[in-house]
Amino acid sequence: MNASILPFGGDDAALVADGSALARHARPSADYARREAAARQTLRAAHAEFGDALVLSSSLGVEDMVLTDLLVAEGLPVPIATLDTGRLHGQTLALLEAAQTHYGRTIEVWRPDAAAVDAFVAREGADAMYRSVELRHACCALRKLEPLARMLQGRRAWIVGLRREQSAQRADAAARELDAQGRAKFSPLFDWTLGDVWHYVAQHQVPYNALHDHHYPSIGCAPCTRAIALGEDPRAGRWWWEQDGAKECGLHLTQALHRIDQPGETT
Ligand code: SF4
Repeated sequence: MNASILPFGGDDAALVADGSALARHARPSADYARREAAARQTLRAAHAEFGDALVLSSSLGVEDMVLTDLLVAEGLPVPIATLDTGRLHGQTLALLEAAQTHYGRTIEVWRPDAAAVDAFVAREGADAMYRSVELRHACCALRKLEPLARMLQGRRAWIVGLRREQSAQRADAAARELDAQGRAKFSPLFDWTLGDVWHYVAQHQVPYNALHDHHYPSIGCAPCTRAIALGEDPRAGRWWWEQDGAKECGLHLTQALHRIDQPGETT
């Protein structure tokens, strides 16, 4: 296994060395050991219950890279899948390739319906998302929600990298919930701090997106993600021109029908 800790796709070695996300954030909380053990237990319990019907839905963000590393470390053959919206940063695509090499695992790549995207772009333009919230949601529906629905088809449970700390909308995330379709949705890192996440990355030499070193805590599509300033909300770099504050694309706006905060419990 490639043990390199350097982010993949980076082009600024000096910045990486001097101000990396690792250097800025890797500070475990007092409760870190318990949280890591609980996350491992959540993953083991999810796999024991759902087997092949479980998938890790990875955005290739740092939380999902931690989850990928945990699955491999635990020896859990859970499929890992990601969405290629057609508008991802080059650094994200580079990490997709590097992560497969690093872990020796194939990552499923789900893409939007090309004809539907072409028709939308021909009608509304490539950057319609800036013109209205409705057009932004329409773009997310085409490029993210539709391929996500296909990714989850036939699967009864999914794992995601949500953390309560990430935003007000995620403040009530739980280790286990039910989504709007009745699937089990696991968030093993729900109570991890940002420092916990980066501590794990440092301890286990997890590959990560070079954009994290350039002050992108949350990485989505290139036209809809920017770096944040010191003190800004971690989600402030997503759809920054919108005023409603939701900062979600719909992937996680699911109905929480039942929550379990303690890993290992069952519904
Ligand atoms: S994040 Fe932006 S580019 Fe990506 S699907 Fe949503 S609106 Fe489209």
